[in-house]
Amino acid sequence: MKRRILIVLVFALVLSPAGPLSAQEKLTADVRTALDSIQPLEAYSYCKTLSSETFAGRLTGHEGYAAAAKWAAAKFKQWGLKPIHRESGYLQPYPSPYVVIDRAEMTLLLEEKPESAEETNVKEVRLEPEKEFLPLLFSDSGDRTGELVFVGWGISAPDLGYDDYAGVDVAGKFVLCFRGTPGRNDRRFEPHDHHRARMKTAKEKGAFGLIYIYDEIVSNPNGDWIEGFMPAEITSKVADWVLKEKDITAAELRKDLGTYKKPLTFPLRAKIHLKVEARPFPQGIGYNIVGYVEGSDAKLRQECLVIGGHFDHNGFHMGLLFPGANDNASGSAAVMEIAEAFSKLKKKPKRSVVFALFGGEEMGLQGSSHFVEHIPPPFSNVDTMFNFDMVGEGDGSGIGYSGDVPELKTIIEEADQHIGTLGRTYPIRGVGVGGSDHAPFYQKGIPVVSFHSNGPHLHYHQTGDTIYRINPDMIADVAKLAFLGAYARASR
Ligand SMILES: [Zn+2]
Repeated sequence: MKRRILIVLVFALVLSPAGPLSAQEKLTADVRTALDSIQPLEAYSYCKTLSSETFAGRLTGHEGYAAAAKWAAAKFKQWGLKPIHRESGYLQPYPSPYVVIDRAEMTLLLEEKPESAEETNVKEVRLEPEKEFLPLLFSDSGDRTGELVFVGWGISAPDLGYDDYAGVDVAGKFVLCFRGTPGRNDRRFEPHDHHRARMKTAKEKGAFGLIYIYDEIVSNPNGDWIEGFMPAEITSKVADWVLKEKDITAAELRKDLGTYKKPLTFPLRAKIHLKVEARPFPQGIGYNIVGYVEGSDAKLRQECLVIGGHFDHNGFHMGLLFPGANDNASGSAAVMEIAEAFSKLKKKPKRSVVFALFGGEEMGLQGSSHFVEHIPPPFSNVDTMFNFDMVGEGDGSGIGYSGDVPELKTIIEEADQHIGTLGRTYPIRGVGVGGSDHAPFYQKGIPVVSFHSNGPHLHYHQTGDTIYRINPDMIADVAKLAFLGAYARASR
């Protein structure tokens, strides 16, 4: 009985009309030509240009970002993509305040009491930028010395019965905390895990600044400039020096917090001296770079697929260039390669395909959020969104896809029959803090596929995220996979 059903099924599959790209079917000459236009060395050269000093780390709002946006828009024009706006062409502007940090110094002032001595000495430890500390890239200027107070996760949520600040006075001090929440899977705490929320709380409690403990330093522009507030981060190794007076390590503290899920808060005798010279630019303008190829079906062309990825990174601060080659010049290069391939098709798919390089992802998904709120005419709705973030390191790709749209997985797997790069696939069931540009689309109920490479993604948000870590074939393979997948999806 079972066997008969199986045979019927096999027949049904064999006899059913093939989709636009079934595994056995050969690609049409038109699609093959477009696919072959995706070239590893060309993708690599886009990635290299974007991560070069010329564009100063592509901090949204900064002139380096604006110059890069014009460069990409010129490519869109060269390929004959249609501009999204009649007046502003390929650039979709939106307000994007930003900060440049020119200089920063951090010194620990640690009490030392040799066993034989009566008095305590103060040992000064000057920290090394990027190796041991870094201001968050939205700090205000200032020159302050203050005691440290450890405040767990830095969350004050009395409504949830949880307050890391209960019973301590942090006014005129620096608070020290981890990133995270007391209940890892407790979504009630999620709003408190945004950097902006944590900074606001610390400022309201009167702290000079908030110091994160991270395993390694990662540059971070994801927050707002607050007058008189100086947020920064230190490594857990540095935190261990500070915590020595309590005979505990950062790793132990973190474990305790995770285990007991209760506030753990205490003042320290250790002090820090933090001096920052920063320039805020509240009038900054960010851009999404957007162009499209029009669908061939008179009705369905009002629907679009969005092929996007973030164009921005973290800028140039304190003499340090954050090139963001993998994050996300690689994804931008993939989007550009796919755009060029679609422009080469003689017969376009039924639906329109929009190519969007988003600003402000590193500042909190700002460009993509702006885009979904301002979907430009002539499009009535977004059918599907493909996102590309960090697709340059490694030797294989992976995808997350909207869990309730399993056919997206099928489409990409079928496309991969022609490419052979796809590894891990997993359903997306929710997008929390730290998602990429597919998140605002997902939250609107738009089906998404999130493409990435298998890593190792070393030097994430560090000066070491350079072009030398990029595998040209990796970007091209992801772009080819997504091109065929998008072609099938837009043709259905
Ligand atoms: Zn990224």
